[in-house]
Amino acid sequence: MEVIVVGGGIGGMSAALSLHAAGIGAQVYEAAPQIAAMGLGIHLQPNAVRELTELGLADALHSQAVAIQELAFYSKRGQRIWSEPRGREAGYHWPQYAINRGTLQVILLEAARARLGAGRIHTGHRLASFEQDETGVTAHFVDSVTGAPLPPVRGDVLVAADGLHSVVRKHFYPDQPLRYGGQLMWRSAVSAAPFLGGSTMIIAGHRNQKLVCYPMRNQADGTVILNWIAELGQSGDGPPREEWNQKVDRSKFSGAFDAWTFDWLDVPALMKAGAEVFEFPKVDRDPVPQWTFGRVTLLGDAAHPMHPVGSQAGSQAVVDGRVLAHHLAATRDKPQEGLLRYEADRLPPMRDIALQNRTLGPELVMEIVEERAPQGFAHIHDVLSAEDLQERADAFKRLAGFAVESLNNRPSYSVARP
Ligand SMILES: Cc1cc2nc3c(=O)[nH]c(=O)nc-3n(C[C@H](O)[C@H](O)[C@H](O)COP(=O)(O)OP(=O)(O)OC[C@H]3O[C@@H](n4cnc5c(N)ncnc54)[C@H](O)[C@@H]3O)c2cc1C
Repeated sequence: MEVIVVGGGIGGMSAALSLHAAGIGAQVYEAAPQIAAMGLGIHLQPNAVRELTELGLADALHSQAVAIQELAFYSKRGQRIWSEPRGREAGYHWPQYAINRGTLQVILLEAARARLGAGRIHTGHRLASFEQDETGVTAHFVDSVTGAPLPPVRGDVLVAADGLHSVVRKHFYPDQPLRYGGQLMWRSAVSAAPFLGGSTMIIAGHRNQKLVCYPMRNQADGTVILNWIAELGQSGDGPPREEWNQKVDRSKFSGAFDAWTFDWLDVPALMKAGAEVFEFPKVDRDPVPQWTFGRVTLLGDAAHPMHPVGSQAGSQAVVDGRVLAHHLAATRDKPQEGLLRYEADRLPPMRDIALQNRTLGPELVMEIVEERAPQGFAHIHDVLSAEDLQERADAFKRLAGFAVESLNNRPSYSVARP
């Protein structure tokens, strides 16, 4: 079987590695002229680290990522609302990692080149259209620099891992716009002293003013690279598409955080540090009822674009690829059946996460604290009971497929190569 993987991002590369590990041929077609190390921090939850470990990438990850041992929610006044152990500290057999997205991309790319062969990773190929018949799929690419048509590619299956602006998703769902959530986000990374012990991810504030901060790289001199994301609610529609991911001046938002000097983190100082700041609107799309159409299926952000809540997008894209390969291997001569099984496994929970992320997912506790105690609290349990906090945290992990016992005990998606 030969699978055409469209998109060489985190999901596409993970899918190609997973297919190869299952003895299924895969070729990756990426629009960018070169696959470059782009992006800032991204999280890999234990469910994704399990899959990458089973793909033989544990050492590469371990040497370049930070194992996150604690997640803590704070109010806008810097009061701790909730904290919980993460990764191995929480009892998982696998760590939770924070890593630079570009570094992760290079780890996956190098593994794919070594295992699939460099000749099976095609850059500069932008998918323009495709069609399928009883015996296979034909993909039509254009040169992403010149726009010139490239020779058509034939395969048994086409996996659309072409991200948030997927042309394959658009083919099946032409009238499905991006939905703006009403917030702008600014991302940056800065070299700094570790905070809260050096392995904590914090989320502070509430729906319309939030800061996320975590270390994503330990440095030899004892400092860390901190990734931070500031978020503010806005009126209006958000910036037009061509203005996304642009460098902006921090004065656009930093004043709102002037009072956020906490004894555990000096947010104004973090924001003043010299690094570039990139602006993004918070967007997703409505969940769709079907990802698989005959020999074509959607994966990663193309399948389930979601708000960046609960650190899910990258992790779930990795898991998608493993589940896809598992089912295609099990139904080898009937790929349509394998793709339907993949969809049946993955679509319902991803739909539920995307919808729950619109209502803040595990971060809802911060919103409740802001509503009930905007001037601060003497004790958090005056605002939310310990049981309530615990149940909300557990419910999201169950939904997202990384409840400790079920992840530790579920069978592997690995399949023996024929
Ligand atoms: C450049 C970049 C930077 C990012 N930075 C961050 C970050 O800092 N933090 C974070 O949490 N998330 C970031 N993300 C998003 C994150 O990587 C994804 O949400 C997540 O990993 C899901 O992966 P995916 O493979 O589905 O999508 P993506 O990782 O977005 O990959 C999609 C890939 O498909 C390619 N593509 C698009 N259209 C076509 C086409 N027509 N033909 C061929 N190829 C196509 C794109 O060039 C891209 O490489 C970034 C994504 C990109 C593309």
